Formats: sequence, structure tokens, C-alpha cells
Amino acid sequence: MAGRPRPQAHSSSASTRRRERWLVVLGIALHAVYMLSIFDIYFKSPIVHGMAPVPPRLSAPPAKRLVLLVADGLRADKFFEPDERGRYRAPFLRGVIEEKGRWGVSHARPPTESRPGHVAIIAGFYEDPSAVTKGWKANPVEFDSVFNQSRHTISFGSPDIVPIFCSSLPHSTWGSYPHEYEDFATDASFLDHWSFDQFEGLLNRSLDDVKLRQLLLQDKLVIFLHLLGCDSNGHAHRPYSSIYLNNVKVVDEIAERMYNLMESYFNDNQTAYVFTADHGMSDKGSHGDGHPSNTDTPLVAWGAGIRSPKFLAYTDKPDDGFRFVDDHRHDMPTPQNWALEGFERVDVNQADIAPLMATLVGLSCPLNSVGNLPSHYLKLSKSDEVEAVLANTKQILNQFLQKSEQKQSSSLYFKPFKPLVNYSSVLDRIEDLISARDYKTAMKYSEELRSMALAGLHYFQTYDWFMLMTTITLGYIGWMANLILHVLQSYTTFPANLLKRTQVYPKNTSMKVYIGGCLFMGLSSIILLLEKSPPLYHAYVFMTIFLWTRIVQNYEFMKSAWRELFNMPFKYIMNLLISSVAALLILEFLVRTQPVIDT
Ligand SMILES: [Zn+2]
Ligand SMILES: [Zn+2]
Repeated sequence: MAGRPRPQAHSSSASTRRRERWLVVLGIALHAVYMLSIFDIYFKSPIVHGMAPVPPRLSAPPAKRLVLLVADGLRADKFFEPDERGRYRAPFLRGVIEEKGRWGVSHARPPTESRPGHVAIIAGFYEDPSAVTKGWKANPVEFDSVFNQSRHTISFGSPDIVPIFCSSLPHSTWGSYPHEYEDFATDASFLDHWSFDQFEGLLNRSLDDVKLRQLLLQDKLVIFLHLLGCDSNGHAHRPYSSIYLNNVKVVDEIAERMYNLMESYFNDNQTAYVFTADHGMSDKGSHGDGHPSNTDTPLVAWGAGIRSPKFLAYTDKPDDGFRFVDDHRHDMPTPQNWALEGFERVDVNQADIAPLMATLVGLSCPLNSVGNLPSHYLKLSKSDEVEAVLANTKQILNQFLQKSEQKQSSSLYFKPFKPLVNYSSVLDRIEDLISARDYKTAMKYSEELRSMALAGLHYFQTYDWFMLMTTITLGYIGWMANLILHVLQSYTTFPANLLKRTQVYPKNTSMKVYIGGCLFMGLSSIILLLEKSPPLYHAYVFMTIFLWTRIVQNYEFMKSAWRELFNMPFKYIMNLLISSVAALLILEFLVRTQPVIDT
């Protein structure tokens, strides 16, 4: 490969091949181990346990019961815009927006899949993507939800969604259809009717069943209908098909029938309604990524505890720097063909729906929720509004404190999140302000504390990132250096020249470096064990130390090689450079094309 004939060609070629094979194995191991670091960096579960719930100190809960309707895979534009004849596809919910409720776009975070979408809506947090890979039915982690907090939950829908929240919930009544029903070939809107019919049947049964009727008349009741039709039809026929668009009409009809059914059964104006979707649907009939067709979903809320529409003249608000979870700007202009500019639109992050639902029926926010209560939706007195936001703040703060405590107990050198060191004095100040009825300032402080607590949660979620990134970057640099060393030693005339002139590899120095490397590995291992680090952290650190030990072992060779380079003619240096780069690329290619890496 090099421009000059190789020294000791016959005797060294066998050992070079052996070393190369060894290097390829090392490279595969290294790439595999470092690739796993993605799980420790990006796929770390945000869940912590051990917090106490924070019930909002409201004078009275705004609603006695809550109806949640989720139209699976319903994207915002197909819901809000008119059809080609100028008629709206969801006339009932449109009437709600114009006459008695509130609306906005709910922004879902990628991966825009059913499970994380429903977890965000019902439990208020964004599952790490690994939960998706762990399967849909199995619950990889125990988490709290609005359903958990409720007195009773009634739920009907897909066998992939309803059991996630209800299968281990003693205070729930639920049902799901067999998987075979999700046959994509036919019009799937009958799945939506199935969910509604089940609930209607349950109400009818309660007329003869005293126990069931008592159960329904309790407060803090949550009713969830999962409507899979749009999703199935979107996958099978794409969101421009008449079947999908007709399914938008179907979910609107179900919302209307549900409203009429509830109001006639309970007849007390004590029911709150939330209509939304878990994710949208791309033009190709798929979902999962962060494209607006997948992240933008409708949100319509009405009934007990929800504000009436706010009419406004269209104002072009400047960019305030706020971004939704899908990275969308606050106050994105509403498309003109939605014809809704006159009605105040309040966008939310998908996880904000969980504290909204919890507050509506006077429940504590789910323990793991990171949602901000969208108070613009709520019809509350000033003092109740502050109390609701404060409960939401404390619930997020509790997670922060729990994470902070966990990290501190396992860290040898703990770096606290400085902005929240004095959190308790801020809480005291808020209580004082509430006592003094200065609700405006109390609200401002609560909201600030809440965003600080969220920042603190992020701080601990990414606490190890710097260490991990440094270790892995050093590892990759070490790997490249090892490859360069190999090329210099096997394909150039350096080793022979240097051997002739100096004793390059003193055996005892090499041994000392080796022992030093082992000691260093042992020491880092002890530190990692004391810090209760995940097992893979050991692997990253081991790999990096190993590579650098090898580099240090060859320090003398590198020094001499460097000196040699300066005494060489320019042409030879260029030659060497080109052959080194070629050899490096070939070795790197060999490593990367190994099947182990691709699986
Ligand atoms: Zn879905
Ligand atoms: Zn789907």
C-alpha cells in the first residue's frame, strides 16, 4: 500500500494480518458498546417514584365527572378545515367552539405513536422512545395517571390502548374488542360506534342495576372512549380518502351523541368534555415522526368548568420565543380556511391535557406529569385558579426534589440545580401572597417556579450527558489514534528505521503503562459502583481507557515517528499521508460493514 517497499515483508505480513483481524474485532466491539450509549443518553426513562400527590385546594371541583374522547390518528387540519363544498366535517364540535367551549391545537411529541400519545394525554408525561420498542401491551414501567387518581374510570376502545391504563386498575370498568376487529380492509369507523355502543349499553343496564347506578353517580368519575376509526382508515386509505374524511364526521357524531346521552342521563350540568387525538396522520398514511401532519391534533373542551369562547379581533402576535414540544412556535397563525380567527385559540403541549382533566374533576395531577395546567381553558375564581396552578407546580416540584435527592444520595460529588436551592422560601412567599389575596403576583411566582422545576427535571435527566459524551468522544479519538498507529507500524518504514536507531519498546515501560491502565480502570469502576451507575457506563469507560492505554504504550514510537516526519522530504510525507488515509478508511469500512453492527 505504501509508496516504498515494505521492510521485512515476509515475516511481518502474517503478524500484520493477525493484528488487523484483532483490530476489526476491537472496532466492532467498540462501535457496538458506544452505540448502546444512545439508550443511556436519549432513551432514559423520565419516571421517578415516591412522590406524594398534591390535591388542588379548590373551593369546589369545577366538574363532577369528565368525558375524554380520543379520535386516534385525527389530524388537526382535516378536522378544522371545510370540505371542497365549504361544509365543515365536524359541525357539532365546531358549534361547541363557536358557542360554548374552548379550542386549540394540541402538539404531540415524536414518536407520534398511539401509546406515547395516550400516555401524554392521560398520564401527562412523554414516554422515552424505548417504551415503544418494549411492546405496546406490556407496561414497561408503572406510572400514575388521571385514571389512577379518579374514583372510578369507565373505558372502552382498542385492545392496544385501553388495557395500558385499566388492566391493573381495580376501580375501573372497561372493555375492548378482539384484535380481529382492527381489519384494515373495511371501513373502520364501526370501531368508533362499538366504543360508544358499549358505553350506552352500560348506562342502559344501570337503570336496572342499583349498584352500577350508584357507581355512576359518584363524583370524580372519568369516562374514556377510544375511537380508533380514523387511525385504521388513515393507514388503509390515507387521510385524503373519503373514508378517512367521512370518519371525521363519525367521531363528531359520536361526540354529539355522547354529549346528549350524558346530559339526559345525569341532567345536572356537572360533566366536562375533552375531545382530542393522540397523533395525526401523514399524507402517506403513516405516523411516528415530527411532521406537523403528525404532531398537530385538535383539542376541544366544553361543559362544566370550561370557559365560554372568547371572541377577538385578529391580532398578529410576535414570536415570543416559546416553542411547543414539537418545536412549533407559539401563536402560529390559524389557517384562514378554518375560519376560526375570531375565537381565541389556546394551543397546548399534549401532556398539558392531563393536568387540565385532573383539575376539572378536582383530582391531583398524575405524579409523573410534566404538563402545565392550561388555565385559559378553565372557568375558575381567581383564588381557585392560583390554587390549581400551585398544586400543578408543587406536583412537578416534587418530582424535581425526588430526582435531586436520588442523584445526591448516589453521587460522590453532587452538583445541585442552583436556581431551585431556595425553592421553599419561594413557596412560602406564594402562600403569603395568597393569604394577602394578591392572586396575580402569586400566579406569576407559581408559574415561574413551575418552569424552573421543569428546567430542574431536565437538568437531572441530562445530568450524566457531559460525562458520557466526553468518555465516548475520547473513545472515538482513541480508536482513530489506534488505527493511525497500526498503519504507521505496519505499512511504513518507520518501525525498521526507528528500531535501528533506538530501543523504542522498553519492555518494563510498556508493562508499567499496562499496570497503570488497569489501576485506572479499577479506580473508575469503584467510582461508578459507588455512584450506582448503570452497568453500561463501566463498558464505555473501560473501552476508552483501554484504547488510551494502548496509545500511551506506544508513546515512544509516536515521539520518534513525529521527529522522523520532520526530517523527511515533502513528497514522502504526502505519500505517507495518502496511504494512511486509505488504510484508515478501509479499516473503518471493514468495521462498519460487519453484520453485528446492523442488527
Ligand atoms: Zn394512534
Ligand atoms: Zn396508527
